[in-house]
Amino acid sequence: MNAYHSTGGPCAELVLIGAAAAQGTYDLDIIVAVGDRDRGVEPSCGRCRQVLLDYFPALKVIVGTSDGLRMVPVTDLPSESYIWADHQLDA
Ligand SMILES: [Zn+2]
Repeated sequence: MNAYHSTGGPCAELVLIGAAAAQGTYDLDIIVAVGDRDRGVEPSCGRCRQVLLDYFPALKVIVGTSDGLRMVPVTDLPSESYIWADHQLDA
């Protein structure tokens, strides 16, 4: 879940990464963001797409399309994404 406040707050994806790490889980396989009030599958924002790519380059993301739901590699989401080379070397 996200935690919106006056500065915008972290998106649910970022909260998930922190919560998973707090429980000792550092590998995520698949992620999907779902909005409340029947909004269905929501696309991750640009910041979250970049963070997900940086931490979990093998992650699959479920996205909503006009044809229904589809699972795509996180590497396919951000166009012209920045490669955080220092972090990738540690992985
Ligand atoms: Zn986000």
